[in-house]
Amino acid sequence: MITGQFDYHRPATVAEAVQLMASLGEEANLLAGGHSLIPMMKLRLAAPEHLVDLGAISGLKGISRENDTIVIGAMTTQHELLADETIAASLPILRETALLIADPQVRYRGTIGGNVANGDPGNDMPALMMTLGARYRIEGQNGVREVAAAEFYQGAYVTALEPGEIVTAIAIPAPAKGHGYAYEKLKRKVGDYATAAAAVMLTMEGGTVATCAIGLTNLSDTPLLAEEAAGLVVGSSLDEATLKKAAAAAEAIMSPAADTRGPVEYRKHVGGIMVARALTRAAGRAGE
Ligand code: FAD
Repeated sequence: MITGQFDYHRPATVAEAVQLMASLGEEANLLAGGHSLIPMMKLRLAAPEHLVDLGAISGLKGISRENDTIVIGAMTTQHELLADETIAASLPILRETALLIADPQVRYRGTIGGNVANGDPGNDMPALMMTLGARYRIEGQNGVREVAAAEFYQGAYVTALEPGEIVTAIAIPAPAKGHGYAYEKLKRKVGDYATAAAAVMLTMEGGTVATCAIGLTNLSDTPLLAEEAAGLVVGSSLDEATLKKAAAAAEAIMSPAADTRGPVEYRKHVGGIMVARALTRAAGRAGE
């Protein structure tokens, strides 16, 4: 399949992109790496009349540190995340997750901004961003604002973005030294979206869990934070009984679609297994 016809625009600054989006209106779509949007256009599930490519805006690229916050430009690719030393040292779960996205070809083009803004429940970064307490920096005609990842996702492909708004960066609080982390993803084959996936960030003190956050991918219309499950493991040494309770509490908030990845009950069951595995692996990696 080939896409429908569209006009191509390549602004050099965010201000220019915002202006273009405002003047072109509803028939315009932002283009980042194109690895979600172009397949949708080829299938004619999307038919924008204008594409506003963010690729020439150098200010949207790169990874920096602002005190205790790691700031990632929206046009930073998954490949660039994998190669970055700050990410490897301070946010290893981001590296682990990026490595599980698709394949090298997709990771060379696909951006973190496109991944979080897309609103596809199958995208891996949104649940991780919620688990990390990330905030999205957004710019539009009405100025600049920030939205917590946990408040961004409203339904499948429905986000808090207003028409024409651009995610410019993702701000992530640097996790505590010695934290444990894991992203567990079950997929049918290399390069596939998750049948079920779980992100865990935790800290340990005296052999018990001191803090914990758990995020879930592709187990509902939106990414989920499994807050009750995370609360259940705090204060425990993650014994078998607690892991089972946490998995059950996480399963209770899952409502995946029945699709080619399996029926609802199967996906919830393996979702619980991903939670238990991620908790165990994260605890094994935690220092004190
Ligand atoms: P684009 O496709 O360019 O844009 C996606 C959407 O987001 C568009 O609606 C666009 O307008 C909007 N958008 C983009 N950037 C911004 C911005 N800065 N501000 C506001 N809106 C914006 N993803 C996974 O997470 N896990 C997987 O396992 C996975 N497997 C894949 C396998 C294949 C074969 C392919 C082709 C893709 C796969 N993907 C997967 C999707 C991939 O990660 C995409 O790159 C990603 O979803 C979107 O990023 P992009 O930069 O390509 O965005």
